[in-house]
Amino acid sequence: MTATTLTLDLLQPGDAGYDEARSVWNAMIDRHPAVIARCRDTADVAAAVRLAQARGLEIAVRCGGHSIAGHAVPEGGMMIDLTPMNEVRVDADRQIAWIQGGALLGELDRAAQAHGLATTAGNVSHTGVGGLTLGGGMGWLARQFGLACDNVISYELVTAAGDVVTASATENPELFWGLRGGGGNFGIVTAFEFRLHHVGTRTLVAEFTYDWAEAFAVMQGWRDLNATAPRQATFTASVRGEELTVGFVWVGDPADGAALVTAFRELGTVVAEKVEEMPYLTLQSREDSVQGHRYRRYWKGHYFKSLPDAAIRALLRNPGVGASLQAYGGAIADVPDHEAAFSHRDTQFEFVTATRWEDPADDAERIATVRGYAATLDRYAGGAYVNTLNGESVSRAFPPAKMARLTALKNAYDPTNVFHLNQNIRPTV
Ligand SMILES: Cc1cc2nc3c(=O)[nH]c(=O)nc-3n(C[C@H](O)[C@H](O)[C@H](O)COP(=O)(O)OP(=O)(O)OC[C@H]3O[C@@H](n4cnc5c(N)ncnc54)[C@H](O)[C@@H]3O)c2cc1C
Repeated sequence: MTATTLTLDLLQPGDAGYDEARSVWNAMIDRHPAVIARCRDTADVAAAVRLAQARGLEIAVRCGGHSIAGHAVPEGGMMIDLTPMNEVRVDADRQIAWIQGGALLGELDRAAQAHGLATTAGNVSHTGVGGLTLGGGMGWLARQFGLACDNVISYELVTAAGDVVTASATENPELFWGLRGGGGNFGIVTAFEFRLHHVGTRTLVAEFTYDWAEAFAVMQGWRDLNATAPRQATFTASVRGEELTVGFVWVGDPADGAALVTAFRELGTVVAEKVEEMPYLTLQSREDSVQGHRYRRYWKGHYFKSLPDAAIRALLRNPGVGASLQAYGGAIADVPDHEAAFSHRDTQFEFVTATRWEDPADDAERIATVRGYAATLDRYAGGAYVNTLNGESVSRAFPPAKMARLTALKNAYDPTNVFHLNQNIRPTV
């Protein structure tokens, strides 16, 4: 063992902190790594990758621990735990953030907002920058500034061989291409350099619930209104049983979103509404408790490239589970498809149906309900977001030409599939 590996902070079953470190967002995941390497810096990560291979241990990588399938936790292998690597530095003049590979979204948002800046990040602040950004990264700023991965200037990566490489538009550009949406397949990202934007701190959130008898017409109106929505607005919809709520999140001066509020009130008979201004940081954490840890979770997702009337009808036949739509478009679709591994940029709406419960006795029924409902919408789907895949093939996220290019990159950087506990691109060498 080298001097570096000897300084690694390693936890084993029975050690203080071991159970906390192996717990992740989805309480269905209850696996026991043989060892957890608590990494503080890039050298630790490189040492951990080498040590795991020397000991023949399967590797999993943990950032925010929010993978629905629990990819961050191996049974019996080594969890490379990046959570101590959560430093965020902001250069407000150059509008750049340098972020360690284990940081959470809230840490990025708070550091950037101190200067009225932000970049695209997801909607729940305890999600990891790592997993979210490597799969693409959707958020309330994406229609203005692109996905999280569209705002990454460079990545620092530890490869399967334990080497440290940089990927940017000019350095290792093919790897840069693959890291923009290809997930954790090519190595462990120890630092991200992000472009930040002046967004101020003000937002508006509007939600309207309508008479259920008008739900179909309201959804049609909502879909049609979305086609001309300003980029500051991201349309949202949620259905559960016989309740429909639609609305939008606006990032920018709330006064500029007032016209949309009026348009939503005219979509049908509103039975309840909530129109609230809130600081950007509140927006970014307002779902933190409802999306909190300790629950058993299951979800399925689809991308919809259009939302025909038949899809709306199917959507409204909801068996009492959570279902949500979030609009894409805008700057996401401006990026040419060939520029990054992330695919399906012509998506109009991302659909997710999800359920949470506490009693393991309910597992089978809960999972079957979500699966059954998602299956009724499958025929309208044009692929899926790699970060919502839950047991399906990665070919749902990447069309054949992208898969071929990703496979070639995997062959070059990780021919023995050291990094396979992820949405896996299998090498063919
Ligand atoms: C409550 C909740 C809200 C969400 N909201 C959004 C949203 O608004 N927008 C959105 O786009 N997605 C969202 N997601 C989906 C989210 O993008 C994925 O669950 C993602 O995998 C979470 O990343 P993580 O770092 O928290 O997870 P982890 O489980 O820690 O990591 C998942 C996988 O990502 C890879 N990985 C993570 N970090 C690194 C790294 N530094 N280097 C290499 N590989 C790494 C590894 O393969 C790892 O197994 C949400 C998920 C949840 C549970």
